[in-house]
Amino acid sequence: MSTLKGKTALVTGSTSGIGLGIAIELARQGANIVMNGFGDVEAPKRDIAAHGVRVEHHGADMSKPTEIEAMMAFAADKFGGVDILVNNAGIQHTASIQEFPVEKWDAIIAINLSSAFHTTRLAIPHMTQKNWGRIINIASVHGLVASKDKSAYVAAKHGIVGLTKVTALELATTGVTANAICPGWVLTPLVQQQIDARAAREGIGVDQATRDLLSEKEPSQQFTTPEQLGGMAVFLCSPAAANVRGQAWANDGGWTAQ
Ligand code: NAD
Repeated sequence: MSTLKGKTALVTGSTSGIGLGIAIELARQGANIVMNGFGDVEAPKRDIAAHGVRVEHHGADMSKPTEIEAMMAFAADKFGGVDILVNNAGIQHTASIQEFPVEKWDAIIAINLSSAFHTTRLAIPHMTQKNWGRIINIASVHGLVASKDKSAYVAAKHGIVGLTKVTALELATTGVTANAICPGWVLTPLVQQQIDARAAREGIGVDQATRDLLSEKEPSQQFTTPEQLGGMAVFLCSPAAANVRGQAWANDGGWTAQ
């Protein structure tokens, strides 16, 4: 399949987890990929390139606006610009508000929210000039509802849902759409950390901690997969989604239906 042949997708935080799953599904449809993120780059790069597309990695730290500007210039230099922008990079820290480390608050707001403002403002000129573009923000169920001990994350995710709506409205008469995807639990390193912490805190096994985590919030008792989220991103890039604007779509096993 090559429904996105000739397009370039930049996926922030695509060395791991959801971002990698989305990059692979966009590559499967023929899009060239600008990867971003830390850790091992070569293995995920091979997994994306296996679909016969061009892949380049830029290691911008998404908490730093100047590095984000350098990444967008890199994408323009290598591919002529970004047609599909997936704002996915994110981190988590859990603690009550009174115990929340100030530097963790600042980092979560910078990486999970402000980075999307910077990539979006820098991507819009190329997209509007072509009169085609897709901005897909990976929010969370925590962009729609809250959980305790996640003040910075919930604030950032509600913020990115708001940013998505404003972006969609400002571009509503153009061929550029902006939407958010709101996953429930996805078994990635970000969530594995929370499962491991729960197992240690409660003196239970990892399997039991996994079952408890799912049954607490997710009626399906199943994880959403990075591949399924990639499929949603592919749909948002399709002609059928050309007039889907400013939505926050959950893929959460019924979490927010409760
Ligand atoms: P992950 O830890 O597997 O991947 C995070 C990615 O972001 C990695 O590629 C990492 O290198 C990158 N990253 C982290 N800090 C960065 C920085 N400063 N600059 C550049 N890249 C950075 O996590 P994940 O679970 O795949 O999460 C991806 C996104 O999905 C996040 O925005 C997260 O909030 C969101 N999300 C995750 C879940 C879940 O259950 N896993 C649920 C809802 C939403």
